[in-house]
Amino acid sequence: MSKIHFDTIALIGIGLIGSSLARVIKREGLADHIVISTRSESTLKRAEALGLGDSYVLDSAEAVRNADLVIISVPVGSSGDVARHIAGSLKAGAIVTDVGSTKGSVIAQMQPELPVHVHFIPGHPLAGTEYSGPDAGFAELFANRWCILTPLEGTDPVALDRLTKFWEACGSRLDTMDPLHHDRVLAIVSHLPHIIAYNIVGTASDLEEVTNSEVIKYSASGFRDFTRLAASDPTMWRDVCLHNKDAILEMLARFSEDLASLQRSIRWGDGDALFDLFTRTRAVRRGIIDAGQEVDAPDFGRQKAGAKSS
Ligand code: NAP
Repeated sequence: MSKIHFDTIALIGIGLIGSSLARVIKREGLADHIVISTRSESTLKRAEALGLGDSYVLDSAEAVRNADLVIISVPVGSSGDVARHIAGSLKAGAIVTDVGSTKGSVIAQMQPELPVHVHFIPGHPLAGTEYSGPDAGFAELFANRWCILTPLEGTDPVALDRLTKFWEACGSRLDTMDPLHHDRVLAIVSHLPHIIAYNIVGTASDLEEVTNSEVIKYSASGFRDFTRLAASDPTMWRDVCLHNKDAILEMLARFSEDLASLQRSIRWGDGDALFDLFTRTRAVRRGIIDAGQEVDAPDFGRQKAGAKSS
């Protein structure tokens, strides 16, 4: 079977995700030419210094002109502006996709802007770290991680197949999903954990009776694992919260109810309820390890996997 290949791939946005794509596209030889475009001159210069692409342009409209595949990797709140800017320059038959962490809002922003002669197929690789920018990327980011495509009604099956094969060549496992279902699933598996982490780290840093130095000194007893999530990019996560509001609020309401129930078990000394819950949750982690989405090492696999799991 011949490998998927594009003449020109345009990467719009060259942070953690865009630069990881650039690296894996190069490593796997998935394009003859990689054009890189980003908002700021300083990031563009850094991408060039890192040798991530073949050409570098500030104007995203110019970058997409000859591209057969356009991948937009910017904060979700900016995807509409980018789509509006590149729309008039897109080549007929080009595949346009994104990597945004929310799908309903990205589709609502981008779809009305894009011309009918391109194939718009939204996507989301479930792979990341708490680091940002072009230096943070690495070619193995997508290896064995899921990538969810949320094709719209009437999507050309050939274009969908090409994009599927592209992500598989990057190392991903592929699923397709309805966009709104994606947003509910991601609200619980990704968005809520980050919000809880931001909240607990914020609470700890506000506590007056525990000094900040004690929070840091004793952090390995649990707190540290939340700080990794809470160190994630503020712009990205502000946008995720604002653009997946309904699903996040629904999951937060359920979470609050369950937290109240846990609080009651502690207050009334209901050890059986606590033991049952903790047994159930331990099995969930076992399932994640068995599914190959985490390494079976103590201390969150930190020694082996470094900081590069999300
Ligand atoms: P990142 O490292 O912060 O890079 C963001 C990129 O977008 C940079 O090239 C930046 O350009 C550009 N950008 C920022 N604001 C912009 C704006 N207002 N208009 C146009 N371009 C703008 O971000 P990332 O982690 O790669 O995330 C990119 C996308 O991937 C987001 O939609 C995020 O939801 C999604 N995602 C992230 C992860 C993760 O764990 N990080 C995982 C899966 C999906 P300049 O540097 O030139 O300003």
